[in-house]
Amino acid sequence: MSELPYSYDAPVSQALFDRAAAVTPGGVNSPVRAFRAVGGTPRFMVSGQGAYLTDADGREYVDLVCSWGPMILGHSHPEVIAAVREAVSRGTSFGTPGEGEVALGEEMVDRIEPLEQVRLVSSGTEATMSAIRLARGFTRRTKVIKFAGCYHGHVDSLLAAAGSGVATFALPDTPGVTGAQAGDTIVLPYNDLEAVQEAFHRHPGEIACVITEASPGNMGVVPPLPGFNQGLKDACRANGALFISDEVMTGFRTSRAGWYGIDGVRPDLMTFGKVMGGGFPAAAFGGRADVMAHLAPAGPVYQAGTLSGNPVATAAGLAQLRLLDDAAYAKVDAASEQIRTLVSGALTKEGVAHTLQSASNMFSVFFTDRPVRNYEDAKAQESFRFTAFFHSLLANGVYLPPSSFESWFVSTAHDDRAIQWIADALPAAARAAAEATAA
Ligand code: PLP
Repeated sequence: MSELPYSYDAPVSQALFDRAAAVTPGGVNSPVRAFRAVGGTPRFMVSGQGAYLTDADGREYVDLVCSWGPMILGHSHPEVIAAVREAVSRGTSFGTPGEGEVALGEEMVDRIEPLEQVRLVSSGTEATMSAIRLARGFTRRTKVIKFAGCYHGHVDSLLAAAGSGVATFALPDTPGVTGAQAGDTIVLPYNDLEAVQEAFHRHPGEIACVITEASPGNMGVVPPLPGFNQGLKDACRANGALFISDEVMTGFRTSRAGWYGIDGVRPDLMTFGKVMGGGFPAAAFGGRADVMAHLAPAGPVYQAGTLSGNPVATAAGLAQLRLLDDAAYAKVDAASEQIRTLVSGALTKEGVAHTLQSASNMFSVFFTDRPVRNYEDAKAQESFRFTAFFHSLLANGVYLPPSSFESWFVSTAHDDRAIQWIADALPAAARAAAEATAA
């Protein structure tokens, strides 16, 4: 990868990356940040303002990653920053209950009708891990159905055929996950209800839950086909299993009430993260009150966290959610649509086969002319074109997720100037994609 034509310099980022590699495996604290799928030097960012990031070399980028989803109001939103300052001035963690976590829980429950009760945690991984444990405890069953290409965090039992970084690195199985941990996970092709029916048929009385991304964004954006989520819900109900909708990525992003606000399919349990933390580590799981009643200390299923409901994180999350009204979503949706049109137009002009898929304001480009309905379809794209496209955009100040298996994210701060910046960079990137050849 090193002799790729990505000769634009990032000497300060490179020096930081070298230092990082000495103290951290691969130089990063989350694998996809390392640019391994696209090559080159990961950019070390020093600040973010609105739609823009500035790296350690002083270069500015329009940000289409938005911290992988959370920064839906853009970076350093003044009201979020003010809420954080105010919270910090009162102390950073008490290890006791506090009003902020109640208010954040109330705001979430108020927005999402099936969310009767909620428990705050610190990461999306913790949320899905806890929801699975609760589903198993509630149903007294062991098996879990998940879908290939869906990523639910690095929960041992859910790392089978996961998307996101696991897709990027093509790790079919992760060393360190035992056969016993993975053995109760049934992995099925996404958007295939027949496979779900068959699995319930093969394992009567054994399946505790089906977990799915509400609308997947970790194999690129692959929305559920019409009726798929409802079909999952119906199959769960018919077989005594719980339906868990993972809204860590879509929650409070795709609408005021997340993906539930779009398809209206009522899950038994839901998981959240990203947007609800306003850029801080806050996440949650929740749903039916009768199921949540099984959680400690109300019930026997244990779950806990030293920093759960942290006052600074909940202040940031609450400030962000309160700013996310209909006008804010309309703004993000409009920016997303404009960027999608520009991207598709530029690629079409250069004759690059592509499929642009969206789920509300989340979207991604697949370098294939076929619709992508599942993980197999996603893997069939010409990822080498993405690599060229990515680096051309990076060189011209547009920061994309460094993998073709990720959603792109926009914010209310993506205004005309930011969109024009992207428009100016796209023709060269589309040309680079057209000229790219497989390694
Ligand atoms: N679930 C989904 C759908 C996600 O997209 C992610 C992270 O990208 C997670 C769970 C895990 O969240 P976290 O990275 O906060 O552990």
